[in-house]
Amino acid sequence: MGNANIDPLLKEIAALFAEQGKEVYLVGGAVRDLFRGEKAQDWDLATNARPEEVIALFRSRRWRVIPTGIKHGTVTVHYKGRDLEVTTFRTESDYRDGRHPDTVAYAATIEEDLSRRDFTMNAIALRLPGGEPVDPFGGTADIRIQLIRCVGNPAERFTEDGLRPLRAVRFAAQLGFKVEKATLDAIPPALPVTAGVSPERVRDELDKIIQTPRPSAAFRLMEQTGLLRLILPELADCRGVDQKGYHQFDVLDHSLLACDYAGREAYPPEVGLAALFHDIGKPAVRKLNEAGIWTFHQHEGVSAKITRKILTRLRYSNAQIDAVCHLVAEHMFHYEEIWSDAAVRRFIIRAGEENLENLYRLRRADAYGMAGIEPAPDFLLPLVSRVDKALAGSRAFSLKDLAVSGKDLLAAGVRPGKEMGIILKELLETVVDDPDSNIREKLLEIAGNLNKRYESGILR
Ligand code: ATP
Ligand code: MG
Repeated sequence: MGNANIDPLLKEIAALFAEQGKEVYLVGGAVRDLFRGEKAQDWDLATNARPEEVIALFRSRRWRVIPTGIKHGTVTVHYKGRDLEVTTFRTESDYRDGRHPDTVAYAATIEEDLSRRDFTMNAIALRLPGGEPVDPFGGTADIRIQLIRCVGNPAERFTEDGLRPLRAVRFAAQLGFKVEKATLDAIPPALPVTAGVSPERVRDELDKIIQTPRPSAAFRLMEQTGLLRLILPELADCRGVDQKGYHQFDVLDHSLLACDYAGREAYPPEVGLAALFHDIGKPAVRKLNEAGIWTFHQHEGVSAKITRKILTRLRYSNAQIDAVCHLVAEHMFHYEEIWSDAAVRRFIIRAGEENLENLYRLRRADAYGMAGIEPAPDFLLPLVSRVDKALAGSRAFSLKDLAVSGKDLLAAGVRPGKEMGIILKELLETVVDDPDSNIREKLLEIAGNLNKRYESGILR
């Protein structure tokens, strides 16, 4: 790596360390990306300076320093819009779940520090400021042949940290690299260790996988090694669930293709997850009809339920769970030209205006998954243009579009609570059917009538 490729800011930092007689190296993903000919995103630095010394060094120049992981020897430096992580050389991984050492064992040399890292491509350092490579495990050669290979003995590396198998398959999808045979073969025996990894760490890897250009590369390796059955058994159960008559693929292959489309198009993670799980209820609901064809009635509801179970288990946020499950539950819309304007408005209300774009994205991914063929750019256009027209017309899509509010109804004598809710919904129904009826007096009159019927006990 020539001097020319080292960012001036890194040289500036290196000078600070040199003044104190300390070494500093660029390490991790940034180095990997440089050797792949890509621009590095985040910078990870390794040094023989102790965390307190690192802090003092940057603070003396008034750079912002945050002791993010001081227990593990890591300090985050914020400078010129960049976050860089500076970690003191360490001897052993502290990634092991539940066994985080309270104090880290510092290493004396960069070579020792590199030896604790997961893959050869991640175990290269560039000495700063010059950029001379330190590559004791042949990482640059492996990058050249696009190979993911454990540093040292794969079985040992995976036993130290059960997340590493998942990182291997994630990198395979992210970089388009192959996993070396001995490394891949070491995954199945390490599954019990992976089973003990915290759900949050697994979630973070899953999130990264679905945002690669080809998530299926990771999921196929996961299937092959048993990781899929361990982490997403519900998805593994979709293998062999054929859907002849609808699709050429079984449910798993279809789901993976849909997920690939979402990844390749860089759709938001909610869409990627929805694409992966949208049909996951199919194995549970399938029935053979008289013609000997499998049917999957109401699978979307079951898919949403299973998706919720999975995402909860993996500690996704409630907001994310709700967003993904909503997309899954609503993915089966079938637009036809004969839809009335009211039907279009009802579709918008069901979907939620803010979710329309993601629902269209999911549909495109789903369509791609049918045959692995690019959907025509305008295949959703008939629906989208009807929806856009409806949205541009008089607004009647949510309670806040109504010409009356809950307060107005209170004033008109409607009791708060369940009845109020039902009456408001009824008013929205009325307005959705006929937007011209969204007039205060008219709605108050309808509400008054409904209220009377409640009070007299006709409705309850
Ligand atoms: P990316 O940031 O794209 O995920 P990265 O390689 O920078 O890729 P990080 O998680 O940021 O990954 O970790 C930085 C470096 O720390 C890695 O390149 C690797 O050397 C080391 N590392 C990270 N996680 C582990 C782990 N679980 N086991 C061993 N080494 C690890
Ligand atoms: Mg990184």
